[in-house]
Amino acid sequence: MSYRAYAEIDLGAIASNVAAIKASTSANILAVVKADAYGHGLIPVAQTALASGASWLGVALLEEAIAIRKAGINDRTIAWLTPPGDDFVSALKHDVDLSVSSLKLLHEILSAGKSTGMKPRIHIEVDTGMRRGGFLDEWKEFLVELVKHQDEVRVVGLWTHFARADEPEESTTSEQVKVFESYLKDLGDAGIHPEIIHLSNSAATLTASYAHRSMVRLGIAMYGLSPDVKTIGAASKYSLKPAMTLKAKLSLVKHAPAGSAVGYGGTAILKSDTKLGVVVLGYSDGIPRNTSDAAGIWIDGAKAPLVGRVSMDQFVVDLGGQSTAESGDYVTVFGNEGYSIDEWAAAASTINYEIVTRIASRVHRIYVN
Ligand SMILES: *Cc1c(COP(=O)(O)O)cnc(C)c1O
Repeated sequence: MSYRAYAEIDLGAIASNVAAIKASTSANILAVVKADAYGHGLIPVAQTALASGASWLGVALLEEAIAIRKAGINDRTIAWLTPPGDDFVSALKHDVDLSVSSLKLLHEILSAGKSTGMKPRIHIEVDTGMRRGGFLDEWKEFLVELVKHQDEVRVVGLWTHFARADEPEESTTSEQVKVFESYLKDLGDAGIHPEIIHLSNSAATLTASYAHRSMVRLGIAMYGLSPDVKTIGAASKYSLKPAMTLKAKLSLVKHAPAGSAVGYGGTAILKSDTKLGVVVLGYSDGIPRNTSDAAGIWIDGAKAPLVGRVSMDQFVVDLGGQSTAESGDYVTVFGNEGYSIDEWAAAASTINYEIVTRIASRVHRIYVN
C-alpha cells in the first residue's frame, strides 16, 4: 500500500526556522500553530517548535488549545479567538490563557473563574488601527470593570495585531505601535501592569525589530514561507526553509491528440499531440480550482503545467509527448523542486498562507527529519 497523495513535513526545517528567528531577536517566541499548524500538523509542529526555542504556543480556537493539552503539552498556550458562549470552564481547567477584547467576554471569563475557583489568565487585545479584533469603543469602560475585578483575574498580557506589517515601507506599523503605547499607559495609570506585551506577526518579526518587545507571534515564517515575497523578499533571504512538500500519484498517463478540449468546460485546447497525466488531487484536497497553467507538477526533472480546470479529486497536466512517466509514479506538486508554494499561490491569485492551510485532512501527513 502506498498513499495516493501525501504532504511531507520537514520538521528539521521547522526547527531550523525557529532557531534562525530565535537567534535574531531577544524576544520570546510564541509559535503560532492555529489551523492545524497552517496545515502542517498541530502536535508534531508544536513539539518541534518548543524543542527549538519557542516558549509559547498560540492558536485561534479554544478547541485547538485543548487538543494541545490532550496531547500532553503543558507549555503556556493562548487561544485568542473565543467568541461568547465558548466553554471557558474547560479553558480554565486546561490552563489555557485567554484573550479579552470585549466587556461581554470579560464577564463570561470572570464567571467561569468564579464557578471553577480558578483565576483566569488573560491577555487584553487592543485595536491599534486594524479595526478587526481588540478593544476600541469599550476601552474606558473596560478599564473601570477590570480595576473592579482585578483580584479575580491575572493580567498576563497586552497585545495587538498589525494590519500592514508585510509592507515595510508603510508607516502604519509604527503608528500602530504609538497607539499601543497609549493603551499601555492607560493600563499602567489604572495600576495594572501586564507581564508581557506582544505585537509582532512574522512580517514585523522579520522587518520591524522595534516592535518585538517581550514576545513575537511567529506564524508563516516558522513554516519557511515569506509573509509577502514581493514586499519582504523570499524566505531564503532570511534563511527560512519551506517545510511542506506535496506529492501525489499519477492515476493515468495517456496520449491525447492536438485540438482536444481538456476537462470541465473544455477550457484548455491542446496545441499539439502530447501525453497527459492525471494527478490524484483536487479542490477537495485543497488544490485551488481557479489556478492558471502557471502552476503544475514536477516529474523526472521537468515541469509539467496544469491543463484545464481542477476537478474535485483530480487535475490534468501536460507531460509532453516524450515523457516516460507512468501511471503510479509520484509527482511533486510543490516543494523544493519544481513549482514552489509561492508559484502556486500566484497562479491561483492568492497567498501562500491559503495554499498550505487548505491542504485537506484527507491528504496524509508524513513527518521527516
Ligand atoms: C495568525 C496570527 C499570527 C501569525 O501571523 P503570520 O503572518 O503567519 O506570522 C499572529 N498573531 C495573530 C493574532 C494571528 O491571528
